[in-house]
Amino acid sequence: MNAYINSVIERVKKKYPEQPEFCQTVEEVLSSLEPVVERHPEYEKVDLLNRMVEPERMFTFRVVWQDDNGNWHTNTGYRCQFNGAIGPYKGGLRFQPNVNPSIMKFLGFEQTFKNSLTGLPIGGGKGGSDFDPTGKSDDEILRFCQSFMQALYRYIGPDVDVPAGDMGCGGREIGYLFGEYRRLKGVFENGVLTGKGFSYGGSLIRPEATGYGSVYYLENVLRDDGQDIKGKTIACAGFGNVTWGICKKATELGAKVVTLSGPDGYVYDPDGVNTPEKIAYLVTMRNSGRNKVQDYADKFGVEFFPGEKPWGVKVDICMPSAMQNDVHMEDAKKIAANHVRYYIEVANMPTTNEALRFLMDQDDIIVAPSKAVNAGGVATSALEMSQNSERLVWTEEEVDAQLRNIMNTIYKNSVDAAKRNGLGYNLVAGANIAGFERVADAMMQQGVF
Ligand code: GLU
Repeated sequence: MNAYINSVIERVKKKYPEQPEFCQTVEEVLSSLEPVVERHPEYEKVDLLNRMVEPERMFTFRVVWQDDNGNWHTNTGYRCQFNGAIGPYKGGLRFQPNVNPSIMKFLGFEQTFKNSLTGLPIGGGKGGSDFDPTGKSDDEILRFCQSFMQALYRYIGPDVDVPAGDMGCGGREIGYLFGEYRRLKGVFENGVLTGKGFSYGGSLIRPEATGYGSVYYLENVLRDDGQDIKGKTIACAGFGNVTWGICKKATELGAKVVTLSGPDGYVYDPDGVNTPEKIAYLVTMRNSGRNKVQDYADKFGVEFFPGEKPWGVKVDICMPSAMQNDVHMEDAKKIAANHVRYYIEVANMPTTNEALRFLMDQDDIIVAPSKAVNAGGVATSALEMSQNSERLVWTEEEVDAQLRNIMNTIYKNSVDAAKRNGLGYNLVAGANIAGFERVADAMMQQGVF
């Protein structure tokens, strides 16, 4: 390993022993960059890598809200403005009890590379709160979102930082957040948030974009492997917005999603989550706030496996689409033993580094990294920003065509970057390198700070 890269990884690990997720992503990304860093000794001269692993700005704020019984609760809000070299900070807000500085920094770091890979002018950011939306009433969500925005509104803006949704933060929450921003600032700056409702500046296809984009990316992989998506079986995880989009697009293209998962276990539906009723039920389940996938098994009479993950199911394609570190070594071994050919990460960093290395080392498995596969979501957010600044509305066909085009370009740029650097067909390293190169170029041209 290149000595400079190694020193940065070691420094981060030593400095942040209490931030394991952040250390994990730094190690995964930087260890791909060896050929590029060796070709550019000037990077070390200006200490580019240590600058890249340090967020430009990160802050916490107090979020106080009242529940329906009149009791007050205090949560921590976060915004990590990781890297703004190529555009305003851009990235979602995650509302989940496990949100902490490590999760925020890992997501912000990944977002920086992902957003760069889209080729669009968006920097990397992430935010959220340790607030738990499970079981909260609509009024409680409203009060929480209003309080969250009362603290955040001074630090964001259409040319500054543009938050969006992430886990626990969907269209309803974005609506409440935007309403409060508008009330506080007295301006209709709808480019400040993405994932909005269509009536006030949201983009068509944005709700579907992450799932659709990941299937468009998958189509590229299959095509280069001489395969067709038609008839393929897919194991998904989660049952949120991303998995919903995958089910919709996979169904349209003749593939079948046969598993879903939740914190309570997984369901196996051998016929596929492929009827309008089943697909719509994913939205109902999410909106119920119960956070239980067993509801699907009860409703459609399929098998439910409490406390288990779907990675032992024999399928053609695995698409971990739930959360970080969902797939560990023991799961990876099951995937390899089942001769799953395509391991397509969808959630941010769904694989431990050890499991990812193991899967990449298998000759018969093709591995695609989340920062490329799920980039269609944030790319479509950038298209939403364009429509907002132009005061225009693009048709569904226009947005979908652009999304498909962006996903094809991301795939192609990743393949080319790996090849150019003598790494063969390596989609993981290719995405890291292509994402890095653009941010590195911009930082080099903007002087040292
Ligand atoms: N949270 C999503 C992501 O991780 C979307 C971010 C956005 O649209 O800004 O990319």
